Amino acid sequence: MQLTHEHEEIRRTLTRFIDNEINPHVDEWEAAEMFPAHELFRKLGALGLLGLTKPEAYGGAGLDYSYSVVMAETLGHARCGAIPMAIGVQTDMATPALARFGSDALRREFLAPAITGEMVACVGVSEPGAGSDVSSVKTAARKAGDDYIIDGSKMWITNSVQADWMCLLANTSEGAAHKNKSLIVVPMKTPGITVAKKIRKIGMMASDTGLIHFDDVRVPQRFRIGEEGLGFTYQMMQFQEERLWAAANSIQALANCITQTADYARERKAFGQAILDNQVVHFRLAELKTEVEALRALTYMATEHYLAGRDVTEWASMAKLKAGRLMREVPDACLQFWGGMGFTWDNPVSRLYRDGRLASIGGGADEVMLGIIAKHMGTLPARR
Ligand SMILES: Cc1cc2nc3c(=O)[nH]c(=O)nc-3n(C[C@H](O)[C@H](O)[C@H](O)COP(=O)(O)OP(=O)(O)OC[C@H]3O[C@@H](n4cnc5c(N)ncnc54)[C@H](O)[C@@H]3O)c2cc1C
Repeated sequence: MQLTHEHEEIRRTLTRFIDNEINPHVDEWEAAEMFPAHELFRKLGALGLLGLTKPEAYGGAGLDYSYSVVMAETLGHARCGAIPMAIGVQTDMATPALARFGSDALRREFLAPAITGEMVACVGVSEPGAGSDVSSVKTAARKAGDDYIIDGSKMWITNSVQADWMCLLANTSEGAAHKNKSLIVVPMKTPGITVAKKIRKIGMMASDTGLIHFDDVRVPQRFRIGEEGLGFTYQMMQFQEERLWAAANSIQALANCITQTADYARERKAFGQAILDNQVVHFRLAELKTEVEALRALTYMATEHYLAGRDVTEWASMAKLKAGRLMREVPDACLQFWGGMGFTWDNPVSRLYRDGRLASIGGGADEVMLGIIAKHMGTLPARR
C-alpha cells in the first residue's frame, strides 16, 4: 500500500486531534463508562474525518479504502480502545452498506448527518441468542402497509445508548436464512425501542454497549437499505471493512505498547542493571515488534487486494485473526515486564490487555475467522 502526501496529512491531522481532544479526557471517560459521542463526532465531522471513503454527494471525501486503513491505524494513538472503536463503528461498520446500497433519500437523511457527526450510528447484528452464527438472528420485521413492524432484541451494541439510528439486520420473510434478511435504518427514538441495559465490561470502559429491545417498532419500508432479502449478503460485505478496520486499528496500539514497555524497562533497575538489558526482555520485545510488522504487511496486502476489487474475505479474516492473536500476546508479554506496575488499573499496558481482549471476540471470533480461512482453503468439512 503506497502512502501518499494525503495519507500523511490525514495521519498528522488525526494525531493532533487525538492529542488535543481525546487523550486528555480518556481517564475521565473510562471512569464514567461513557464519552460524549455527539460532541466528539461533530468535531471529527468538521475535520472531514467521518466520511473519508464516503461519496462526495453526501459530504464524504470519496477517497479509496486505504484512507480508512490509515485512519484506523492512527486511531491506535488514542490511550484507550473504546473511543477508536466507537469511531470505527460510525465510519466502517454501521455505514458502509448504507453508503453503497441505500436510496438517495435514505443517504441524505441518515448518511449525510453521520458524516458531519450530527448523528451517531450503531450496527445491530448480534442478539442474546445469536452472535457467531449471524444467519440465526431472530429479530423480525413484518410488513404492515408501507411500514415494517419490528420485534426482537439486539445485544452488545456499541454506541447504542447514545445512537440516533441503528443499521439493523432483521428477518423480513420466512425461508432460507441467508436470503430472508434485510438491513433497515431504524431511528433509535422510535416508540417501542428500549435500551434495556448498559452492559458492564472488563474493558473498552468508555464505550457504551447496550442491550436493545424492539417491541412493535414501526418504521417505513423505505428505510430498508437496498433490496429486500439481501441483508445477509450486504452485512457480510460490510464485515470485510469492519475486519480490515479492526486489523489496522490494532497496529499502532500494539507498537505503542512495545515502545512504552521498552521505555519503562530502560529506566527500571533490578540486580544492578536496567530490566531492558536482560536479553530475555529485549529479545522478546524484538520478536513482538516483528509480529506487529507482519500484521501491518498482511493488513496492507489485504487492503491492496480490496482496492483492486478482489474478494478479500479470506485476507480480511486472516488480518483480523492475526490482530486478535497479537492483541492477546503483546500486552500480556509486555505487562510482565512492568512487574506490579503492570497489574495496576491505570497502566497503559494493562488497559490494552483488557481492551485488546475484545479483538478475538467482536466482529467475528478467532474461531469464526479460522472457519472462513479453512473454507477458502477447501479444508472445512461439509456440514452434517
Ligand atoms: C464490547 C463488545 C462490543 C460489541 N459490539 C457489537 C456491535 O456494535 N454490534 C453487534 O452486532 N455486535 C457487537 N458485539 C458482538 C460480537 O460481535 C459478538 O460477541 C461476537 O460475534 C461473538 O458472538 P457471541 O458473543 O454470541 O459468542 P458465541 O456465538 O456464543 O460464541 C462463543 C464462543 O464460541 C466459540 N465459537 C463460536 N463459533 C465457533 C465455531 N464455528 N468453531 C469453534 N468455536 C466457535 C468462540 O470461541 C466464541 O468466542 C460486541 C461484543 C462486545 C463484547
